[in-house]
Amino acid sequence: MRIAMISEHASPLSALGGVDAGGQNAHVAELAAALAEQGHEVRVYTRRDDPGLPPVVAAKGFEVVHVPAGPAVTLPKDDLLPYMGDFAEWTAADWRGTWLPDVVHAHFWMSGLAAVTAARSSDVPVVLTYHALGSVKRRHQGAADTSPEHRVAYERQLGRVVDKVVVQCQDEIRELLAMGVPRSQMALVPSGVNTDLFRPEGPAEPRDADRPRILTVGRLVERKGYEDLIRALPSVPGAELVVVGGPPDGRLDDDPYARRLRALAQHCRVGDRVRLAGAAASADMPRWYRSADVLAAAPWYEPFGLTPLEAMACGVPVVGTAVGGLTDTVVDGITGDLVPPRDPRGLGVALRRLLTDDMRRVSYAAAAADRAAHSYSWRRIATRLAAVYATVAGGTLTTTDSPREAVV
Ligand code: UDP
Repeated sequence: MRIAMISEHASPLSALGGVDAGGQNAHVAELAAALAEQGHEVRVYTRRDDPGLPPVVAAKGFEVVHVPAGPAVTLPKDDLLPYMGDFAEWTAADWRGTWLPDVVHAHFWMSGLAAVTAARSSDVPVVLTYHALGSVKRRHQGAADTSPEHRVAYERQLGRVVDKVVVQCQDEIRELLAMGVPRSQMALVPSGVNTDLFRPEGPAEPRDADRPRILTVGRLVERKGYEDLIRALPSVPGAELVVVGGPPDGRLDDDPYARRLRALAQHCRVGDRVRLAGAAASADMPRWYRSADVLAAAPWYEPFGLTPLEAMACGVPVVGTAVGGLTDTVVDGITGDLVPPRDPRGLGVALRRLLTDDMRRVSYAAAAADRAAHSYSWRRIATRLAAVYATVAGGTLTTTDSPREAVV
């Protein structure tokens, strides 16, 4: 099949760990590579955010097309809505040329708008993965949410007009049902993990053998719960907490949130046991996971959460909060422990218990690695998604009075 993907802000070529570069970038890159490996022709359309970028870049078996829409500079993703019309127009013209796709898979709601608009003239079926939902963000972030005003309304409407919504976890199904998106519109296919890269065997980052290591990974944003982890650390004597993510190591001092985390660690008298390591290249992530006794993931909310899955694939047990995709990927009491969000005490108890129980850690680790490899390898997930694409590409012929016309 010819598969177009639209990922307006999240380029599969970006370095991860920055404020707007995380799971979606990794997801799109891995999915595109896995589909290409299975013989599909894949083009990923992403916004040109640097004048030096070539129009097309060959990646692992697929192409990345840099779409000129808006200024060629990095912009916060929440500022991109005004450019989605241009994005759609440019992409539609590309399709009218020589490369009409059989299906377009949009990632994130703004890409959904661009996809639906671009697909209008050519009747290409549209599949949408939200990756995150505005309703959830608004609930947790309140006034701090910088999403465009009508995000939730757009998301609701997109859910009804696209050919299929790919949901990533049970929690997302519940949210979408509450928004009025029919269950029949949804196909549940989780995100995946590259099990060639993320596996238990292989080199590890150096560490102090006498000090249990709790690792946490992600963009340095408040909702990832790093403050809760730092507050939990006094109840986990002797352990170190290593935070991977944010700006590169040399630039952490300029990051206000990194400074806030360091100040909190001092305040909690664990300054000498908290280490901010800065961003790591994705190729180095397996080394970091393998160096840890436990991966802690303490988000307040999490649409899916790749880092627990990556850790599991490396044979590392997870202590996580029972939110979003973690409640599907982490099997409580089998591959890790789940605790309520925003509960430093609960986190501390779970971490301490796991770090002092070698038998439990070993058994969680084995079960975690098995689960990741059997249920979440990208090969398996790409096959399931290709089946979804085939269903919509085979079955839909959209007429000119398609409800898609109404979206943008
Ligand atoms: N990541 C990375 N380097 C870093 C921090 C994170 O490569 O310094 C990767 C991490 O391995 C994972 C992704 O970024 O693949 C984060 O995805 P997740 O779903 O956990 O969080 P999101 O960023 O989507 O909120």
